[in-house]
Amino acid sequence: MLPVVALVGRPNVGKSTLFNRLTRSRDALVADFPGLTRDRKYGQAKYEGLQFILVDTGGISGDEQGIDAEMAEQSLLAIDEANVVLFLVDARAGVTSADIGIANHLRKQNKKVYLVANKVDGIDGDSESAEFYSLALGDVLQIAAAHGRGVQQLLNTTLEPLAEAFPDMYVQDDKDTEQEEKDAEQMLAELQASPIKLAIVGKPNVGKSTLTNRILGEERVVVFDQPGTTRDSVFIPMQRDERDYILIDTAGVRRRRNINEAVEKFSIIKTLQAIEEANVVLLVIDAREGITDQDLSLLGFVLNAGRSIVLAVNKWDGLKQDAKDNIKRELDRRLGFIDFARLHFISALHGTGVGHLFESVQEAYASATNRVGTSMLTRIMDMAQQDHQPPMVRGRRVKMKYAHAGGYNPPVIVIHGNQVKDLSDSYKRYLMNYYRQSLKIMGTPIKIEFREGS
Ligand code: GDP
Ligand code: GDP
Repeated sequence: MLPVVALVGRPNVGKSTLFNRLTRSRDALVADFPGLTRDRKYGQAKYEGLQFILVDTGGISGDEQGIDAEMAEQSLLAIDEANVVLFLVDARAGVTSADIGIANHLRKQNKKVYLVANKVDGIDGDSESAEFYSLALGDVLQIAAAHGRGVQQLLNTTLEPLAEAFPDMYVQDDKDTEQEEKDAEQMLAELQASPIKLAIVGKPNVGKSTLTNRILGEERVVVFDQPGTTRDSVFIPMQRDERDYILIDTAGVRRRRNINEAVEKFSIIKTLQAIEEANVVLLVIDAREGITDQDLSLLGFVLNAGRSIVLAVNKWDGLKQDAKDNIKRELDRRLGFIDFARLHFISALHGTGVGHLFESVQEAYASATNRVGTSMLTRIMDMAQQDHQPPMVRGRRVKMKYAHAGGYNPPVIVIHGNQVKDLSDSYKRYLMNYYRQSLKIMGTPIKIEFREGS
């Protein structure tokens, strides 16, 4: 579980600048999938050993027209559901009426809000920030997002209080090989001893509730009461083909006490958390709407989180052959870049194709947790190197020496050698595909890390 940080502020204060700085290092995986662009509204942030989910609420204009009306629904929900709210203001512009409007709104929420004065580069930060104390939101933290100044301090100050609740937010990057191999083994043992956590996600109205009910209806389900806030998904243990699963229900199906109770509001943060917590994600797409940007955003998030994935194109019932052909063409065109993910055409309403989903879920999970030893990984690396030599860098040939496993779900392959960090993206992609084909890895992204020297 990772904490959620929401960026709030009127336009032009530097929210996207900060967002980009904090999420840049997590772009590596997205770069492996030409065809995916990064979503600028939410992302996995990783910065100086800390990782968390970051949401740029953007939608706030701070207009006097009544801020509640102006805020996009998801922005309001995001503020409500976030663990930390960073309220950005522009130190150079001073307090504006829009800032006051937002501050008034935030003060009414029962939330820990940190006031952050951005753009303190080249000015006297202390004196320019002083007037923001009038917003009555406590201390003013100073940063220059464009230059990274104060950013680490800001994260330490705001995330440290969450250390106990979210131990996973600390990442350790530089482990030695021996430790890393041990950790990978330990990780695998834990995965194999646990049920498969399967999250059913998708934008509103694609049929998540219908599918969840369909899956649960066919099984003996043990449902237990799980009180929680709206941002928590419900975890439902179930069995299928003699395997234990935990269904992560983002649609809130089992929270409803009776059939007439309103369906829960779609919450992007709940969806992101569910993806983080899952082993395998079932991404539901609406055949009648085709692939939308929101589907692609969710897909990008799943891949970036390293989760296994199965795609379900729902509402396949009652479509004319023409329509089916068109949809298939569009899927080929827009989803061609993840040809390793199984695609199912289903009708959650009638149950058609639903059973087969689990074959792909199992396959994806098996790929993500398949133990491959050092000698095999090194042999495949050698073959790849022989078939297609790495290019020269600064007059020297890059030399890959050996490879070992660095983790599972997603499978992490660590390659050691000389100048390996200088390998081009296209060579890295070649290696990734080579491993994928040699090991027949389906349904999961692979992560390759490069280490200098032996
Ligand atoms: P947003 O609308 O809140 O997302 O704001 P942006 O991130 O787009 O930034 C608005 C403008 O402020 C851009 O021209 C940025 O280059 C500039 N900016 C952002 N951060 C800083 C900073 O730390 N110092 C300075 N001098 N300018 C900044
Ligand atoms: P959610 O918001 O993703 O949980 O979507 P719901 O499960 O509430 O479904 C939204 C609407 O689509 C409802 O009216 C469902 O009856 C309908 N629906 C769901 N699955 C199917 C399907 O397989 N075929 C058709 N034709 N309609 C479906």
